[in-house]
Amino acid sequence: MAHTIQIADHDIAFAADENRSVLDNALAAGYDIPYSCRSGICGSCRGKVIAGEVRGGSGVGVLGDEERREGHVLLCQAQACSDLTLAVRDIEKRNPDATKSIKAKVHKLTRAAPDVTIVNLRFPAGTKVRFKAGQYLHARLEDGTVRHYSMANPPQQNDGVELHIRHVAGGRFTAHLAGEMQVGHLLDVTLPFGDFTVRDATDKPMILLASGTGFAPVKSIVEDAIKRKTTRPMTLYWGARKAADVYLADLPAKWAQKYPWFSFVPVLSEGAVPSGDAADGETAGDAASALAGCRTGFVHQAVLDDHASLAGHEVYACGSPAMIQAARQAFVDERGLPRDAFFCDAFVPAVMPDEVFTPA
Ligand SMILES: Cc1cc2nc3c(=O)[nH]c(=O)nc-3n(C[C@H](O)[C@H](O)[C@H](O)COP(=O)(O)OP(=O)(O)OC[C@H]3O[C@@H](n4cnc5c(N)ncnc54)[C@H](O)[C@@H]3O)c2cc1C
Repeated sequence: MAHTIQIADHDIAFAADENRSVLDNALAAGYDIPYSCRSGICGSCRGKVIAGEVRGGSGVGVLGDEERREGHVLLCQAQACSDLTLAVRDIEKRNPDATKSIKAKVHKLTRAAPDVTIVNLRFPAGTKVRFKAGQYLHARLEDGTVRHYSMANPPQQNDGVELHIRHVAGGRFTAHLAGEMQVGHLLDVTLPFGDFTVRDATDKPMILLASGTGFAPVKSIVEDAIKRKTTRPMTLYWGARKAADVYLADLPAKWAQKYPWFSFVPVLSEGAVPSGDAADGETAGDAASALAGCRTGFVHQAVLDDHASLAGHEVYACGSPAMIQAARQAFVDERGLPRDAFFCDAFVPAVMPDEVFTPA
């Protein structure tokens, strides 16, 4: 059944199919609301029901109790059961020029760890795409399979992209990457997407929290800060199971030596690296010394151990949904982090191809 969704304080209304989420209805009507994971984990699409009723989207663990009592919901999960009036953080008519669909050429493939490949793509000559540090792209295989990957390069380098891709056993895209993809091949990409970008309106110290290839958008964020010569304090906690999984450890270690505003805390969940040595023979030289003295345990626990209060911080977390959920809950409940100071991109597995590939 069709209902009408009215956006408070805007002259915007659109039809809503009650079998689709409010977010999908907005996108179908040509409106962009901030969103990212579309799975009810990141919280980017939060909105407030002013009038009417929705089913789903209560955002347990993502929204606070008070927010939920006030009528806040996650619009990627909520479906309209009646006509609605909603307040949203932001809404605008989709700009057809805001994203670009490009056939990018595979320029370089680097095996950075046993299960991580760094993919450098080049855009056609003269093509540049504006994006913000922390955003991601849609990559589409010939069979229509679409997956999301975060840009690891800073936005100042916008004639191509660097992607850090972890191989997933039995994964469609990553099997293609490991088996068929070669330098010179073309890959359809559309970019940019996502709301995992640094809020510049404050100088609060930032905790950057990454698990595995969640380091990719964090690298873009830090390299953007370096290029813009900002000095806002940042501490990167990079968590992985073992030493080899912290596949570019020497890079943040070098940033930490060079920039007084940046600190690096590697955290391994399956044990520490013997001092000056690689744990498993797969992490060599600089990387091994970058990890000497690393912490052990869960990455979000290291943040808890180091901070009696997070009330004055902003947290930017990226990687596994489990890490993000655990971090948000503990930081908000146990360390007083304001809920709206937690920003994240959850690497939620597989979305349906026809849902997401929307060339402008
Ligand atoms: C906004 C966003 C940004 C992302 N950025 C990155 C990035 O920069 N780097 C990156 O490596 N990944 C990233 N991802 C994840 C990526 O989009 C794919 O989900 C991932 O590469 C697996 O795709 P696949 O086709 O190989 O596996 P699929 O064919 O989708 O999955 C195969 C099987 O493996 C399971 N599976 C998939 N992923 C995982 C996982 N992580 N852990 C356990 N089981 C899993 C699936 O549920 C399924 O059963 C991002 C995801 C999102 C939503």
